Amino acid sequence: MPIISNPDIRRALVERVRYYNELGIYDFYRREGMALLANRAPSDELNDLSAPTSEPEQREEMARKKSTAVAPVAEEKLVAVLSTRPEHNVTDPIAALKLIREDLGDCTRCQLHKQGRKQIVFGVGNPHADLMFVGEGPGADEDTQGEPFVGRAGQLLNNMIKAMGIRREDVYIANVVKCRPPGNRTPERDECETCSPFLMRQIAAIKPKVIVALGAVSAKNLLAINAPMSELRGRFYDFMPAGVRSSDPNWQGAKLAVTYHPAFLLRDPRQKGEAWKDLQMVMKYLGLEPPKKSE
Ligand code: SF4
Repeated sequence: MPIISNPDIRRALVERVRYYNELGIYDFYRREGMALLANRAPSDELNDLSAPTSEPEQREEMARKKSTAVAPVAEEKLVAVLSTRPEHNVTDPIAALKLIREDLGDCTRCQLHKQGRKQIVFGVGNPHADLMFVGEGPGADEDTQGEPFVGRAGQLLNNMIKAMGIRREDVYIANVVKCRPPGNRTPERDECETCSPFLMRQIAAIKPKVIVALGAVSAKNLLAINAPMSELRGRFYDFMPAGVRSSDPNWQGAKLAVTYHPAFLLRDPRQKGEAWKDLQMVMKYLGLEPPKKSE
């Protein structure tokens, strides 16, 4: 980290890092040419920090609001400590997921915490999974049971997984947001942006070979692409979780496929054939065979 002599800039940097850490973002990337920043105004320098969001002006304003809570401590040390995710260098996915869950805590980072959630639905499954499914957010059943995809849509997802020749316990299942949006509405953009860093950290901890995004909300959030399902499906994307590095330098990211959300398939069963094509693409990549008829 370069030495920053201006105390105002240093303090502001600490505030900014702490703000991102509160959002679950711990890894930052230095842009080329940072050394040229020395002669620039403080506001320019702050805006050049590698902000992992697309709304720097808004984030800047939010960071200022939080500034009163920053304790007057040795800033350089604080930056160094705050820049390290709790699970940084933890290679065991079970331990890493536990640390991420602890870091999430009784989360109040977005408005969904006060809109009737019963509990946080963190994720479930095999921490060593090759295959991960990511949905949109918990529904009523998930909110009650604390586990993703346990209602009717979950039953269909279980059947989809079984048709791939594997079991639910073999995969890991999570959502973009971990609290139930009221009335099962689509999560707002700021809710997804606030919660998804924790999903990115879960992905980096699990290091799956393939991620299947279930539905357009999941796909758009993971891929940062705004496109209809017809364009998103039918191909693999190279995926690296945004804003976080895996503890395993050998993990080169996952392949990401997009398919329909099981809840949509319940409403329009005619699309099940299309979803099966998506899953077959994943099965081929992972070398999975559908179960024999007698199984
Ligand atoms: S949805 Fe995510 S960010 Fe929002 S309160 Fe729940 S756990 Fe926190």
